[in-house]
Amino acid sequence: MSWADLPCDPRVARELSACLRSNRLSPSLLLCGPPGTGKRAVAVAVAQALLCLGTEPPCGNCKHCRRVASGQHPDFKVWEADGREVRVEQARALRAATRLRPFEGRVQVHLVPEAERMNEEASNALLRTLEEPSPHAVLILLTIAPSLLLPTIRSRCQSFRFRPLPARMVQERLEKDGGVPAEEARWRARLARGSLARARSLPADEIELAHDVARTLESMLEQRIRGRLAASIVDAAERWSSETPAERPLERLLEVCRDALLAHHGAPVDSLLYPELGPRLGRMAGRLAGTLPAGIQRLEAALGDLRRPMKGNLLIEESLSTLMHRP
Ligand SMILES: [Zn+2]
Repeated sequence: MSWADLPCDPRVARELSACLRSNRLSPSLLLCGPPGTGKRAVAVAVAQALLCLGTEPPCGNCKHCRRVASGQHPDFKVWEADGREVRVEQARALRAATRLRPFEGRVQVHLVPEAERMNEEASNALLRTLEEPSPHAVLILLTIAPSLLLPTIRSRCQSFRFRPLPARMVQERLEKDGGVPAEEARWRARLARGSLARARSLPADEIELAHDVARTLESMLEQRIRGRLAASIVDAAERWSSETPAERPLERLLEVCRDALLAHHGAPVDSLLYPELGPRLGRMAGRLAGTLPAGIQRLEAALGDLRRPMKGNLLIEESLSTLMHRP
């Protein structure tokens, strides 16, 4: 196994492997980044590197590496959130565990995959663990929202920031690990916004939906000439609002409109999200007579409104947390 094979920002993989090789790894690590950017895969690789008995850790093949990968190693413990929260009892149990000697390895590795879910008591208990680090425990916190962690927790950890994955890397992983056909892997990678998890979870007909959006817009332009625009708008809205969630057709519509605007202004085809639609979209933008920028703004606002109720609790948590945490 090599660090270069990990599905993550290659810069982070290089930094981490250099720290491990030179023994400069802090006993408290914080891996931050959007979902699907490889934080968990990297945390597992760090645990393997620390517990591996091969000549070039992590070898990926020894008994220890294999047991870490399958979650069966006694010195590798994952503290999943219990429902919505990481509870104080879990944080206290983690603290107690770090006081014990490792079972087999020279260290124990404790992983908290959703550190932003620690409640206040749990955060304080964890902070005490960080303030008095055990010589034989390494703690790895993962988070999509570092601003939700206590600043004192953040400052005591060595932080690594994961950027969205390049589309080419997402495509390669889909083809190599997931057996996804090349053409499908290409569009999934393009629409994934740097997240392997999103690339995998996109519905199979997502690209077809974008093509349907483009065809429908073209047909609406024809209907506009014939004075039947209102009816065709009602038809399309009815058809697309039967989609669940309604975000999907709106997102595709926004992407197609952005591509149209870019194509109209002569952007290179390979910079478009839907290069195969490029010339058609460019012509369409010409016929939209200046309404495209305002339409794009309206779509962005509509998507914002749609997403708000779903992500409401996270937004509220983040705002309140900013308000309540002392700097
Ligand atoms: Zn190994």
